[in-house]
Amino acid sequence: MEKKTLIDVSHPIFRHVADAANDLGIDAYAVGGYVRDQLLGRPCKDIDFVCVGSGIELAQKTAEKINANIHVNFFKNFGTAQFRCGDLDVEFVGARKESYDRGSRKPVVEDGTLEDDQNRRDFTINALAISLSKDSFGELVDPFGGVAHLAEKKIITPLDPDITFSDDPLRMMRAIRFATQLDFEIDPITFDAIRRNAERINIISQERITEEFNKIILAPRPSTGFLLLEDSGLLKIIFPEFQQLKGVENYEGKGHKDNFFHTLQVLDNITKNTNNLWLRWAAVLHDIAKPPTKKFVQGEGWTFHGHEVLGSKWVAKIFRRMKQPLGAELKFVQKMVYLHLRPIALTKEEITDSALRRLLFEAGDDIDQLMMLCEADITSKNKDKVKRYLQRFETVRQKLKEVEEKDRVRNFQPPISGELIMQTFGIAPGREIGIIKEEIKEAIMEGKIHNDYEEAYRMMLSLGEKLGLSKK
Ligand code: ATP
Ligand code: MG
Repeated sequence: MEKKTLIDVSHPIFRHVADAANDLGIDAYAVGGYVRDQLLGRPCKDIDFVCVGSGIELAQKTAEKINANIHVNFFKNFGTAQFRCGDLDVEFVGARKESYDRGSRKPVVEDGTLEDDQNRRDFTINALAISLSKDSFGELVDPFGGVAHLAEKKIITPLDPDITFSDDPLRMMRAIRFATQLDFEIDPITFDAIRRNAERINIISQERITEEFNKIILAPRPSTGFLLLEDSGLLKIIFPEFQQLKGVENYEGKGHKDNFFHTLQVLDNITKNTNNLWLRWAAVLHDIAKPPTKKFVQGEGWTFHGHEVLGSKWVAKIFRRMKQPLGAELKFVQKMVYLHLRPIALTKEEITDSALRRLLFEAGDDIDQLMMLCEADITSKNKDKVKRYLQRFETVRQKLKEVEEKDRVRNFQPPISGELIMQTFGIAPGREIGIIKEEIKEAIMEGKIHNDYEEAYRMMLSLGEKLGLSKK
């Protein structure tokens, strides 16, 4: 029976690779993620080509066929080559056979056949290849039933999963990442092997673990991945603080929210409104310091006083350990965690303009993101309660807008500078300047004066007088 072409190979790149392979007298295939994504109808701009021969020569020959000016990048140590073709990123490698020695992390790599190359791939859905040889152009090579597993939405290793995961433990993270991104199920036998091999994740570099973890957080429903990480035993190794959120303590018949499930709901909630990785990370970390701040207070019940302050400190510790960026991204997440209770606190009391101004002043341009985090943080089993909270929250949002339009404190710049104070009173730098500036800021926040130069100037003069200074 003739095999049907399942994949669209009409893009000219496939013809060029096929011609180049033909010239070199070798077999070439498109493999891996690209083939999988084509079958799933997911957009994919990276194509990996594998050939039974030199990937570098095939890349060079293909590039010549497309356009003599294409710049090919060679990675001789890895035997790979890469170039850009329009909006496509194409990579070439020779088929490889890998064998692992349990003691070392690095496999012994030798030239191999297509079959060898498919054997070393992590999951059946990632081991699909499309032939680009003359007599079988466009035919699918699917030795492990990857097409069927795509239809069944199943993640399963091509070979013995214990060997697959022990050889390269990063594959455990990848299994969970793909299950989360694609909404697939990990085959139970494969999943049991992850449980058994979880400890081996320790031999993988933090950067690569974090890369997969960030992809889980960026997926359409990140909670799926966190639940699998927890269930497999990986979570307590790679993110012990998050594992600690799990569980409910009871005292005198009173329990608190399970912060593990609560946080996952907040994360899923915010995911519907933002693709910003760092805002999603703020959701992950907003209650991270609840376990160490937990206390049962008579008459009040369970409290977590100061968890936002300790939590924002922990963000730095966690980001450093996870090798996340330590610049503006870290600062942003810290700020979100630090301020995450503020907007919700506003809904509980009478909303004064000064409280709104202070919040605007502290959040600055991140106010909209903070509001998004707080809205996602409204979770309860009681639907009416959620609805009531959300309504009050909308009121806060509206009032914030009004105050901002009126007072412009969002990017508050002191209307009176230190230089002007020194000039006016003919003084050198000293404590008076700080006092005057702070009092003016307070007066603006409290609504005693407007955020306005003339009013602030008059206030400066009278404050100076009180401090025994006179205008020069
Ligand atoms: P994405 O690009 O969305 O991350 P992908 O499947 O393309 O997904 P890549 O990391 O780009 O993943 O890898 C390309 C292919 O290489 C995979 O489809 C798989 O066949 C193989 N591969 C990648 N990493 C591993 C690994 N750790 N073990 C085995 N095979 C792997
Ligand atoms: Mg890829």
